[in-house]
Amino acid sequence: MIDNIVEFFKNLPPKKCTECGETVSEQHECYGTKCDKCLNELI
Ligand SMILES: [Zn+2]
Repeated sequence: MIDNIVEFFKNLPPKKCTECGETVSEQHECYGTKCDKCLNELI
């Protein structure tokens, strides 16, 4: 069962920005699901 869960996470697509659909860098995970461009617009 655990093997199946690992496979599930390995097959997840990269995170997409909820604003423009750009792929979101993992390091910005704490900001939610927005890319650099959309984050800058918020500031
Ligand atoms: Zn964006």
